[in-house]
Amino acid sequence: MRGVVFDGTRTEVVDDLEIRDPGPGEVLVAVAAAGLCHSDLSVIDGTIPFPVPVVLGHEGAGVVEAVGPGVGHVKPGDHVALSTLANCGACAQCDRGRPTMCRKAIGRPGRPFSRGGKPLFQFASNSAFAERTVVRAVQAVKIPDDLPLTSAALIGCGVLTGVGAVLNRAKVGLGDTVVVIGTGGIGLNVLQGARLAGALTVVAVDSNPAKEAVARQFGATHFLTSAEGVRDILPDGADHAFECVGRTELIRQAIDLLDRHGQAVLLGVPAASAEASFLVSSMYLDKSILGCRYGSSRPQRDIALYADLYREGRLLLDELVTETYPVEDFAKAADDAHHGRVARGVLVF
Ligand SMILES: [Zn+2]
Ligand SMILES: [Zn+2]
Repeated sequence: MRGVVFDGTRTEVVDDLEIRDPGPGEVLVAVAAAGLCHSDLSVIDGTIPFPVPVVLGHEGAGVVEAVGPGVGHVKPGDHVALSTLANCGACAQCDRGRPTMCRKAIGRPGRPFSRGGKPLFQFASNSAFAERTVVRAVQAVKIPDDLPLTSAALIGCGVLTGVGAVLNRAKVGLGDTVVVIGTGGIGLNVLQGARLAGALTVVAVDSNPAKEAVARQFGATHFLTSAEGVRDILPDGADHAFECVGRTELIRQAIDLLDRHGQAVLLGVPAASAEASFLVSSMYLDKSILGCRYGSSRPQRDIALYADLYREGRLLLDELVTETYPVEDFAKAADDAHHGRVARGVLVF
């Protein structure tokens, strides 16, 4: 079968990939569509260190092909969106509703794929850039059959991360003020999360003026090409500032834009060794800096909720899909994503 493999030097679309059968508590999914997220490119450029060879991709949707022993919540033929969170479901963190903090979900990549008898790693417990993948039962979330799979594919990373950061981590409230720095795939989802939460003023900041229309479509009430104008709109600062780019000077900017009791939420991913600085005195008056892993999501609940909100017309998914590509065109999709020409490119099988 076909898939996108990174061997540490080169990224290649191969057609001789094999996948093992699902074991106990696992699901075999025929992937129909998979979004190309910057984290995939970060593996290729080394920002996210990951063992190789690895099958890339981590936001996808498809159809269940087989289930292993003990799986009862989905059956062959069901449509599913995939999460990257292979949490155990049985530890104290899982039990208290924080599956993103499950220690068993982090740092133990499996190798369900092989090529010519040699095993390949699975990226983010997911590897959606393969015609078939095996995930843990907890990662396969049933979605209605009438959801286009190209749109549903985006829920599992961009939407969970961006909307989840607003609703689950920041807990933006009705009438709050929000600044979103960066309007790529994550930033647009933060914008629509802010709209869902009932934020009153939502300022999008992106150095690319061509992003204004899409930012407003997703929920921005104001658009600026530089953060310098934010104080003209919000003289006291913002209740919530989301950094969605991953640059340390923008993290500093987000902190400097906070109102009293404001919070800066860090979603962008700079290099693992990056250090940021801020004025300690700027943090007085109950301000906070929040990290956020994967939208602090509970995927079985949140993916189903976002699918319902989409069907009600309250959550935009189709509009995130700027372009679809056959998987063979991975290089073009990666180039378009790298240069910010697409909100999301989606590979289809
Ligand atoms: Zn992602
Ligand atoms: Zn757990």
